[in-house]
Amino acid sequence: MFNAKAYAVASATSPFARTTIARRDPTEHDVQLEILFCGICHSDLHQARSEWSGVPTVYPCVPGHEIVGRVRKVGSAVTRFKPGDLAGVGCMVDSDGTCPECQAGFEQFCASSTFTYNSPDKHLGGVTYGGYSDSVVVDERFVLRVPSNLDLAGTAPLLCAGITTWSPMRRQGVTKDKKVGVVGLGGLGHMGVKFARALGAHVVVFTTSPGKKEDALRLGAHETVVSRDANTMRKHAGSFDFILDTVSADHDVNAYLQLLRRDGNLTLVGAPDKPLPVSSFGLIFGNKSLSGSLIGGIRQTQEMLDFCGQHGITADVEVIPMQKVDEAYERLLKADVKYRFSIEMASLKSE
Ligand code: NAP
Ligand code: ZN
Repeated sequence: MFNAKAYAVASATSPFARTTIARRDPTEHDVQLEILFCGICHSDLHQARSEWSGVPTVYPCVPGHEIVGRVRKVGSAVTRFKPGDLAGVGCMVDSDGTCPECQAGFEQFCASSTFTYNSPDKHLGGVTYGGYSDSVVVDERFVLRVPSNLDLAGTAPLLCAGITTWSPMRRQGVTKDKKVGVVGLGGLGHMGVKFARALGAHVVVFTTSPGKKEDALRLGAHETVVSRDANTMRKHAGSFDFILDTVSADHDVNAYLQLLRRDGNLTLVGAPDKPLPVSSFGLIFGNKSLSGSLIGGIRQTQEMLDFCGQHGITADVEVIPMQKVDEAYERLLKADVKYRFSIEMASLKSE
């Protein structure tokens, strides 16, 4: 074992504080990364503050599952990485590899998957610690290749915000000639806009923040709708093939179901704890469907990263030092992020 520097919360109401955590020495299948950047996902905030009743948080909690780093050590059986390579780690660090879900490329649904933080640690006991740290040790199967042409700070958020928006778009066949809505222009939403545009769709952003209209267009949207404006909402009734809902808080999904055309789909990726009321009439008139989507498997995450490499796609980030994480969380709560915070881990070195 060795010591790593990290930032942790001690309880649901504590601010972040510097700490030292144990990481395992790499086993034969492991890759040890020096973390260069880690994105801040709203799921980090939900979990740091124990907002998900179904997944209680174990403290201390070191969040972070949008990791980009440089390989420092590899185990003797590692074949795909060598010291000096760039690599990424997302929301998962292990699974059994043999169950039907793993075989089908859906490791996130493996009954014994290990998430990057707040998940039982099979090696050291306790729970796993995430990317708000200067290093991490991960089984090679869960380490992604990072395209060499991309800005690293903007690449880190692809490991969660990227795959979480890419996966449902691929499943729902987002392509040229489809009309796609993205609800909420935050970390996930802005990646959704970039992907839908790159896949050739007509893209409409629904936002509660009138000040984000210009940015939405710059990021790739063809149209922006301030969702509190009922008149403009009505103009889009019955017209969408697919709507991706990334909202992190309580809101009315029925308003969006009305905007779907026949057989249209609304996929929820936002994860507020409170159940959402859904009108059955909103679904049955038009054979519409409402789905959910959880991140994406490893194979599809690599597909997404390769697509980003080919199309020069990264997240728009505000790079911050680790010491500003509490401030960043407060801004996330005010929907004030443009459009992902990316923590520069060099800021931990001086501590
Ligand atoms: P984020 O950057 O904070 O963005 C969320 C956006 O939702 C905000 O920027 C805001 O956009 C909108 N919003 C916030 N409060 C709202 C409200 N009360 N009513 C309407 N709109 C509101 O968050 P994120 O990191 O993108 O994550 C979004 C959600 O997805 C979180 O719940 C997170 O836990 C979840 N998530 C799920 C998965 C998955 O696998 N399914 C993966 C990652 C994250 P506007 O200002 O444009 O309105
Ligand atoms: Zn996330």
